[in-house]
This record gives sequence, C-alpha cells and structure tokens, in this order.
Amino acid sequence: MRPDQATNHPLQAGCRVRVLIPLPLSSTYEYRIPDGISVGLGDYVSVPLGNRTERGVIWGIGRDQVPEERLREITGIYKIPPMQPEMRDFIEWTASYTMSKLGSVLRMAMSVPTVFRPERTVTAYISVSDPISVDPTVRMTNARARVLSVVEDGCPRKIGELAQAACVSPGVISGMARAGLLKPIQINPDPELPVIDVHRPGPILSDNQDRAAAELRNAVLEASKTGSEGFAVWVLDGVTGSGKTETYFEALAKCLERGLQALVLLPEIGLSVQWYSRFEERFGVRPLQWNSELSGSERRRTWLAIQAGHSAVVVGARSALYLPFSKLGVIIVDEEHDISFKQEEGVIYNARDMSVVRARISKIPVILASATPSLETMTNIQFGRYRRLHLPDRYGGATMPEIKLVDMRSEPQENEKWISLELQEKIRKALKSREQVLLYLNRRGYAPLTLCRRCGHRISCSECSSWLVEHRLKERLECHHCGFLRSIPDECPECGALQTLVACGPGVERIADEVARRYPDARTEIMTSDTIRAPSAALDLVTRVHKGEVDILIGTQILAKGYHFPDLTVVGVIDADLGLAGGDLRASERVYQTLHQVSGRAGRAEKPGFVILQTYQPENPLMKALSSGDREQFLEIEAEARKRYFMPPYGRLVSLIVSGPDRDLVDKASRELGKTRPYSDKITVLGPADAPLSLLRGRHRRRLLVKADRDVHLQAIIKSWLSKSSIPKGVRLQIDIDPYSFM
Ligand code: ADP
Ligand code: ZN
Repeated sequence: MRPDQATNHPLQAGCRVRVLIPLPLSSTYEYRIPDGISVGLGDYVSVPLGNRTERGVIWGIGRDQVPEERLREITGIYKIPPMQPEMRDFIEWTASYTMSKLGSVLRMAMSVPTVFRPERTVTAYISVSDPISVDPTVRMTNARARVLSVVEDGCPRKIGELAQAACVSPGVISGMARAGLLKPIQINPDPELPVIDVHRPGPILSDNQDRAAAELRNAVLEASKTGSEGFAVWVLDGVTGSGKTETYFEALAKCLERGLQALVLLPEIGLSVQWYSRFEERFGVRPLQWNSELSGSERRRTWLAIQAGHSAVVVGARSALYLPFSKLGVIIVDEEHDISFKQEEGVIYNARDMSVVRARISKIPVILASATPSLETMTNIQFGRYRRLHLPDRYGGATMPEIKLVDMRSEPQENEKWISLELQEKIRKALKSREQVLLYLNRRGYAPLTLCRRCGHRISCSECSSWLVEHRLKERLECHHCGFLRSIPDECPECGALQTLVACGPGVERIADEVARRYPDARTEIMTSDTIRAPSAALDLVTRVHKGEVDILIGTQILAKGYHFPDLTVVGVIDADLGLAGGDLRASERVYQTLHQVSGRAGRAEKPGFVILQTYQPENPLMKALSSGDREQFLEIEAEARKRYFMPPYGRLVSLIVSGPDRDLVDKASRELGKTRPYSDKITVLGPADAPLSLLRGRHRRRLLVKADRDVHLQAIIKSWLSKSSIPKGVRLQIDIDPYSFM
C-alpha cells in the first residue's frame, strides 16, 4: 500500500484525513480538519487520542470509517516542512516487509521530540552599532576593552562563550550590557550547520580508484536530474587498504555539488574516529553525525535540517536511515557485510537491505562498500542486479600481507600458553624493529568459563542459559548477555569446596598476562568494549598507536574494523576457529570476513605485513582460502553448501521467537503456533524447539524457523498463519525476517 500521493493543494477544512501516530499501532486514525487550519499530506500535526494529545503525520485522505459524531479534530499543526511521500512510502515498506507495526516504524523517523516544542531562544551579545550613543561617563577597563575587541567580528555569543573568549568573568559581560556597551539579542541556540566547500579538491586518485569514482559521480549526477530513473546498487569491492573511502568520497562530493543530501552508514559508529578525521581532511568540516552520543540540541538541529532539505552529509549507525530525508541523493553503506547493520530489537530490520529499498523508492544510487562482500551481495552481482566496481590493489603500492596457518595440534604443550612458538618469534622480531603487533581474540574478559575441579560445576547466569565470564581487571564474573554481575567466589557455589575453581580458556586479559610475561618491556594495550567505552577513548588510543606509544595491541572485533596503522606489521589471531561451531547459518562466512578484516590491518603502508592464524583445523577450506587469499574459492564452497540446503540467499528464512517468563506458558504457546503451521511444498517449518539461548534475561525462549523458496511471499503466509492463532498474555512473539542471529 502506498501512502496517497502528495498534492500541493492543502486539504480543505472539514475534510477527513488519516493520521499516523508514532505508537505501536498497525493503522492510522481518522480526524477532521478544523476550520482555520490548512494542512497537506505529510504535515506534522497534533491530535487527541483518548484523553491525551499525540503527535502524528497526515498519512492520507480519510475513508469515512468513523461515524461523524465520533470524529475528532486535529488540534494543531507544527511549523515544520512536511514529511516527503518517499519517506512515507519507505515507512510503509519497512513495516510491511519486517511485519512491524506501522506506527513503530514512524517512531524511528520521529525520534527527536524536541523538534516539536516551540522554538527556544537564548540571549547573545553583539557590539553596539552606534558607540556614540554610549554614555561617555561609562568606565572603560582592560577587561571591558578585551570584550569589545572580541565582539568586533559581529558574531553573536552567549554570555559564557563571550566571557571565556575575552578571559573575563560573566559579571563583566552583564555589567557591560547594563551600561549599554553590549547589545543583547535573541538567537537560536542550536549549533550551526557546517558549511561544506563543495569545490575543495580531493586527493589524486589512482587509476583504479579514478575509474570507480567516475562511475559513482556519474551515477549521482544522472540520478539528480529530474525525472531520471537513477536507482542502481553499486558494490565497491576493494581489498583492505585500497582506498574505498577516498573513492566513495567523490560520490559525496558530487551529491553536495548538486545541493542534495547524502547518507553514510558505518558499523559501530562510535569507534569510527579515523573516518571522521579523513572526512574533515577531504571536505574541510565535520559531517552531521547521528548517534546516541549527540546532545539534544545537535539532534534537533540535524533532524530539522534533514527534514527541511538542507544539503549535508549525515553519518550514522543504522538508525540514521530513518531520518526524514527530503532530498536524498546517495546512500553509502560501508562494510556492508557487517552484521551490526541488523537491528535485533523493536523493529527488526537490516539497514543494508533497507538502504537498497530506500534508494529504489527515491530513485537514487546506493553504494555498498566492503573488502568481503556478503554472499547475498555477491549473488546479486552474479545475477546482474548489482554492479561491481573492483579495487584489486592496495593504495600506494602497499602489498597484501602474507598469511600463515599455525597448526596448534603440533604445538608443544605448556601451561598458560596461547601464543604459538612461531607467533612468539614474529612478535619478538617486530618489537626489535620497532614495529607494532596486533593480537586478536574475540573474547572479552579473562576466561570464558569458571569450573569447579572437584564437582565439575560451571558457574552460569541465573537469568540466561550462558556461562559467566571472568573479568579479572574488574574482579568479577559477568554475563555477556544480560550484564549480570557477581564477585568471584572463593568456594564452589555447588559443592562448597574451597579453592577448587579454575578459569578455563583465554580471553584478551589472559593473553595480556602471557604477553606481559614474555615481553615485559613491551607497551601493551587491551582494546575491547570494556576498555573503550566512548569515541573519545577510541580516539585517544588511536592517536597513541599512531605516535608509536603502543607496541602490542590486544583486542576483540572492535579493533578489526577500518583502522589504519602504518607501523603495524604483525597480526596474530589467537583462535581462528572461534565462532565456527554452533548452529549459525553464516558462521563460516562471518569468520572468514572477520579474519580477513583483521588480517587487513597488517602492512598497510611501506612495511610488508605478516599474519598468523592459529587453528586446530588447518585443513578446513576456510582456513586454506584465508591463507591463500582465494576469496572466490571460499565463496564458491560457501554458496554450494547454501544452495544444497536452500538456505539464504538461495532460499528464504524467517525466525519466530516465542518468549516469556513462564516456561509452561511459552511451551504451550509455541506448540499451539506449531499446530497451525502452514503446509506447502515450498515451505518447511522447523520447531518449535528451544532457542540456543533458551533462557535470556529471565525469559524462556522457543523458536520456529520458517524456510521457503525464494519466490514465496512469506510475509503474507505468516500473516495468515498468525491470524489463526492467538498469543496469550505474558508471551511475546518476535518475527525476524531474514534472521542473522540464531541465538
Ligand atoms: P579501505 O577502506 O579500502 O581499507 P582506506 O580508504 O582506508 O582503504 O585507504 C587506506 C589508506 O590509503 C588511507 O590512509 C587513505 O587515506 C590512503 N589513501 C587511499 N587512497 C588515497 C589517495 N588517492 N590519495 C592519498 N591517500 C590515499
Ligand atoms: Zn545473563
């Protein structure tokens, strides 16, 4: 269903309209336009709902569904430009694809309540235009003179800013205002929008980069012409260090030149500090950011600017996709394979896939960049749906690192040893030549399991079906699923024996211990979400690594992405097999992508890189493909396996999770759901069965997995299935279309 097309004619008073309210509602409500108000489709309005007033968006013409006497009136209209039809279309599309409530999707687009409050102003001070009028008896001190020289530039400043700039106390400012030496004015307190110089020249591109950039610039240009069918998906497939960022920056430049808006989605936005400095180098200013760290006024400014159609580049995590863009010219999804683009709570959607939908609706290009494009994307290239731009070489003559497998089965056994002899040797050499080392292990904490040597008890979370992870630095055990914490006990909680608990397996902290023992003089840093909690901390660490103040970095996957450290030459992957076990459809693909990314951190500048993958299964085709750098071969094997079982991208999957605090009720509800399952030779329903995390945050979880041929319209089938069964109170059903998490 498309929202009704916008007309430029405001709707007449007395007309009925349908208003969508950003609450978990599936449909719109009908209202009448009162006398004296003129509205159009997409306008933001306030309406009565029960005994409250809610905000909403005019979604369409009324359908006479409410009897005249019960019809209520719109109570107000906000002075904000209307939401564009493309955006409304996109919201409809998302809701119907993800099987979410329409109002819940709108809510993502109206996430800044302050934009609807009356405009605030604050007092600022400027110089007095006519100094002659100032009373000649007013005393002029040094402090006052400093203030006057600051305001000479004509810029209005708030009292605090002005006091700071002139090195005076705020009292001096207010005194000067009283004496008529400064003029108070009211200004908008939101920070100003950065002004980008669109003609600022970029770097000189290599031939390959230039060819790709030319295509992208042209795609943006063609799409910006009125009436053009500019939708296309471009895959910027370039090896790590090939300069994908510099290349797609050219598409941004073209977009800005045309006065349009651009959106760049990055995974783990808070950690993308290097990305921001490169953007600033290229464009002279910071982009508009969209993340959870923003202040209220920044959010307000950005949302309003986007809705009003200001030309700008917005960089954000997946939620930025639901900003109400009104003049979008291009979308870029960097590291398109990254699973953090999948939102797992609330409206469950994949921002990469929804970007493609958004681009199609707006008839603009979307660029998916990656060194390891997902199998979905590669298949789309194969079938001619996506166009590939290839950057086969590292920029500036840097070579790809050599990757070597170390067979851990033939390593001599030794207590508290996780670093193989060969890796030890490589580290020693690197340290000697003042090069940097990265040790990768995707496990936070000290040890993933604490076990009683006497009774075999494993300390687990009481709210989740998972073990507690020992964090020695914080001196506690922690559940990585729900955040539950407890101190490390002296005695076994099960049998009560003293001093029998042992830590099993390594986390990054334990690796750091081994490093400290073997290389006591090396300066070591741990980089995980425990140690890097804010972008400022990431920036600080990155700066120190750049300055050569760190010799060995030990980190989890937050370290694997995007960083460029010229002196880093050795990468050691402590446990390359980690993540391969378990029932995850994409386990191999994900391990391949991550290890390829991590390996890509080595030797990015003049000095060649060396990577060691420690594995217990060196004969695994995945390990072989990684070490030989033969991505195509890996993808072929992976594609074959998926094809055989009709798994995505060759078939479709939907996961239904039934959960609740009452185990019996959850069991019963999931069995009931199973009984009404659809039967067809194109659909298989697996389950209900315990979800791998059968207990999460105190909720019991059962899963049904629906598998279907690609051409089946699964949403329609599931909708009719669910209409036949009712979910009891206290039980929740979550529908995950194209699931990525199989926990
Ligand atoms: P990728 O994202 O493909 O891994 P990057 O975009 O991080 O690669 O580029 C790697 C490094 O090379 C960065 O430091 C980047 O600034 C530099 N670089 C890439 N292309 C150019 C260019 N044309 N001119 C100057 N520096 C470049
Ligand atoms: Zn837990």
